[in-house]
Amino acid sequence: MKEKRDCKIVQDLLPNYIEKLTNEETNAFIEEHLNNCDDCKKILENMQKDLNVNMTSKDKKAVKYFKKYKSKLKILKIAMVIILVIALGTMTYYYFTFKNAYINAATELYKMVSEEMYPDTFYATIEEISDGELYGDKTIKVKGLDINDVNHRGEFYFTVILDHIPDNFKIEFNGTKIAFEELKVGQKVAVYNYGDVLESEPAYLSQVRKIVVLDDTL
Ligand SMILES: [Zn+2]
Repeated sequence: MKEKRDCKIVQDLLPNYIEKLTNEETNAFIEEHLNNCDDCKKILENMQKDLNVNMTSKDKKAVKYFKKYKSKLKILKIAMVIILVIALGTMTYYYFTFKNAYINAATELYKMVSEEMYPDTFYATIEEISDGELYGDKTIKVKGLDINDVNHRGEFYFTVILDHIPDNFKIEFNGTKIAFEELKVGQKVAVYNYGDVLESEPAYLSQVRKIVVLDDTL
């Protein structure tokens, strides 16, 4: 009779026991009973089997879901790679486009700064005006004045291409543009060259863009 009553108690407790919700004392009681009662043992085994079956179907669902998720993840990965490739391509394209634009702008700026803002200026007396080697050229030979630094006191020559005098080539006197023919030997002039001074004898001034005839009183 006692055993039968214990069986009822144990069987009531088994679901909790399986899920490990019972305390140690209860576990000891249940396990002791199970060792001596085949009926309850059988019931426990069946319960565990059912649980495994349920777990398996749950697991299957989980696996199925995971597979689905994984394939979604794969699509996402491919999409990300495509987006990345497009983004990189676009960035590269714009980088090189911008780079070229930047180089062009920098080159223009450099030209502007070096040619227009920082001419080499020196003061000289015109020694000789002669025809140049090229058609339409005039060669002007000048001698640097003492007010120049040591490097600019020697003789220099430069050419003026009369047929193609660029807009930025000016001959001025008193702030007014004058004709090339008004340049005379013996005049004192300020010569603005934007290019290099070529080391020859006499030295050659490249890119002379402006000649200013100075007042005789200077
Ligand atoms: Zn029992």
